Amino acid sequence: MKPLAHLLAPNAGDTLYAAQPKVYPREIDGRYARLRLAAVFVLLGIFYLFPWLSWNGHQAVLFDLPARKFHVFGLTFWPQDFFWLAWLLIVAGLSLFFFTALAGRLWCGYACPQTVWTEVFLWIERVCEGRRNQRIKLDAGPWTREKVMRKSIKQALWVIFSLWTGVTFVGFFTPIRDLARAIADGTPGGWETFWILFYGFATYGNAGYLREQVCKYMCPYARFQSAMFDRDTLIISYDAARGEPRGARRKDADRAALGLGDCIDCAACVQVCPTGIDIRDGLQIECIACASCIDACDAVMDKMRYPRGLIRYTTENMLAGRPRRVLRPRTLIYGGLLGAMLATFAWGVSHRAALIVEALHDRNALFRETAAGVENSYTLKLVNKTERPLRLRIALPDESRLTIVGRSAVEVAAGRVASVPLTLRATDRTMRGRQPVALDVRSDDGAVEAGTRTEFFAPSEHEQTHEPERQ
Ligand code: SF4
Ligand code: SF4
Repeated sequence: MKPLAHLLAPNAGDTLYAAQPKVYPREIDGRYARLRLAAVFVLLGIFYLFPWLSWNGHQAVLFDLPARKFHVFGLTFWPQDFFWLAWLLIVAGLSLFFFTALAGRLWCGYACPQTVWTEVFLWIERVCEGRRNQRIKLDAGPWTREKVMRKSIKQALWVIFSLWTGVTFVGFFTPIRDLARAIADGTPGGWETFWILFYGFATYGNAGYLREQVCKYMCPYARFQSAMFDRDTLIISYDAARGEPRGARRKDADRAALGLGDCIDCAACVQVCPTGIDIRDGLQIECIACASCIDACDAVMDKMRYPRGLIRYTTENMLAGRPRRVLRPRTLIYGGLLGAMLATFAWGVSHRAALIVEALHDRNALFRETAAGVENSYTLKLVNKTERPLRLRIALPDESRLTIVGRSAVEVAAGRVASVPLTLRATDRTMRGRQPVALDVRSDDGAVEAGTRTEFFAPSEHEQTHEPERQ
């Protein structure tokens, strides 16, 4: 009987994990490389700059967990709004479905944090250790003074960049200016230090060392994306019908006479591949659709004066000579759902209540009888979700048989919660049992208003009334 290791990793000998040769992707220039570089700048710019921006006097993007408030530019999400954040997560998941069905692994190639940070780490590696051949030579060579120096500088830059990434990450959850001051003073909190080191270490390990292994073995998206693919999904593919039979030839050779296809078997597409695969072997789960092989092959085709596109964005149907169908049931369903969910999100967020009012009845006594009438006590919780202080007036509907005892106006600071004691009195002595009560709360300028419902308790028919309390 075969050992379990053979079943799990049939090509890996007797071990569950086969050591992978290090991939040295060759640097490449081209239209997709420039597009990827632009994506790196935009996405990293968003990550590293956003926590430093201010909006209405506070950090523009701050997930303030202790206060249970998320600030995203002008929007503040309270615990009551977490439904919309959950909704947003579902929208993000659905977007992944939609864009994968439409354009394949676009996310992996241009926007995934693993890809984006690996680009930066690779760039640092190139600056410190040179181009592909120099790096291979350096790694294979003995530990000379130059090698130690180059490796040390690279490690130092990697560590600094990773720690700065950790600080920025924590800066989304705690005010980053306070955090930077605390770090400068050497007094950051325990949790902050832990998360800076944790996130920094994760960045260093994933982008510095694991790299393509994360995509190949750890990423769940790579596993289930094939379920979202169909024959009209955009993929990066080698055109075997045009390229084969492959073979080396002189630039001016007549390939038809030699019986060769357009592929000159230069392996440029393999050398630039960050996951170390050969796209000519067909669509593979390891391909993150970075399009480096397209740039590499287009450059070769230009040199050979062959038409570009031997490796290109295409679909299985297009490769088979059929037209591409962008509008098909799955893209229409995903797209329709996505549009509807985004519209609902936009409507829901823009129509959130600016003021929340809750009335909590006194738990100790249902009612109190006084000379002036029966009284009930409440604690009114007022949540001001606006960015300005509100002077609020509490009122009962005109037809109410109740009155408010004491003050009925209260000031609530911007973004604050106020707990206000409230007493209602029934002057009508015929009132009996449990009565519904509606309370209106409105700002002085009338711009913000909210209401709540609670209950007022009076003695029941059968209940023995007490002597009224003297006040
Ligand atoms: S880069 Fe193009 S020509 Fe060179 S091996 Fe790859 S597919 Fe063939
Ligand atoms: S095969 Fe091409 S597109 Fe796929 S990961 Fe390698 S270089 Fe990128």
